[in-house]
Amino acid sequence: MTPRPEKDPITKPSERARGRVLLIAGDKQPQFIDALSLRGIDVFGVSNGAAAMVSMTRTRPHLVVAHAATRGLRIKELSKMLAQSEDGIPLILAGSEPSSVPLRLGAIVEGAFDYFTLPAELDLLIERTQQLVLLRQKIDQLRADADLDSLTGLANRRRFRVALAREVERWRRYRVPCALLMLDIDHLKAVNDKFGHPVGDMVIRQIAQTLREVSRDNDTAARLGGEEFAMLLAGVDLQRAVSAAERLRSVLGGKRVEGVGAVTVSIGVAGCPENATTERMLYSASDGALYVSKNAGRDRVSVAPPLQEKLPGV
Ligand code: GH3
Ligand code: MG
Ligand code: MG
Repeated sequence: MTPRPEKDPITKPSERARGRVLLIAGDKQPQFIDALSLRGIDVFGVSNGAAAMVSMTRTRPHLVVAHAATRGLRIKELSKMLAQSEDGIPLILAGSEPSSVPLRLGAIVEGAFDYFTLPAELDLLIERTQQLVLLRQKIDQLRADADLDSLTGLANRRRFRVALAREVERWRRYRVPCALLMLDIDHLKAVNDKFGHPVGDMVIRQIAQTLREVSRDNDTAARLGGEEFAMLLAGVDLQRAVSAAERLRSVLGGKRVEGVGAVTVSIGVAGCPENATTERMLYSASDGALYVSKNAGRDRVSVAPPLQEKLPGV
């Protein structure tokens, strides 16, 4: 594990990605596209219903705007598909037919957010589009934040659970190994008692920062709660995981926390399939190994015992 440049886990509003709209329309709508571009929203245009389906997965839009007169476009199917999609991407309908209460009502009943007539209501369409894109971006941000630990910005227990299930599933299906490191800060209570809780928090944040720096893109560094962390290493066998844990322990122990000095951690390591083949087993094998490290005097790495062959009749 080599240190990586610091990654900010929480996207700042100024760095927020541009909005994305999928426009399904036979004609290009340059005014619509230009107006939204000025507002930080990219419009991806497709000219028929079939292309829309392909573009949907590629562009991952925040919103779909569909012109009713587009070739091969079946509004009902599109509305149903969007409403049922996991993300619930909103749909706005547009058309040349003058807007009326029955027309708008029909669109809404079919699952769209509204109907606008073009070109007469172009300005309304632009405003509504921007409003819905911003709302979608906010929802995406809240979703991402809900998976983060607020003190450290690492994955929280919920996201860790999802990642653990995914990696063990990758072993089950494709025989890709993974390994789990469980870490617990040594004697944090003594740090709190001596220097105060805010300093203890600083210790937790600093350790989290190191975990973030050493983790690769597919790894998951998580704070499970209190002063306990997990590093889930994707595609790594037990032997490499043990080396990684030793390096991590030495990197962490070698750092000085301002005003506190060196802070050590105890680590437990377990691999899938070497020590466990289900997420529950992997978790408890790693946790058990951590317990061994604590009992053996802390500031060390312990490895879970190998998975026993099941004895006949047992
Ligand atoms: P050891 O793990 O080595 O056995 O000792 P310890 O003192 O770290 O562990 P113990 O389980 O006895 O106590 C955990 C301590 O961690 C006590 C608790 O106040 C502290 N702690 C847990 N969460 C936080 C936190 O969010 N901030 C701070 N500052 N301290 C925390
Ligand atoms: Mg603890
Ligand atoms: Mg502790």
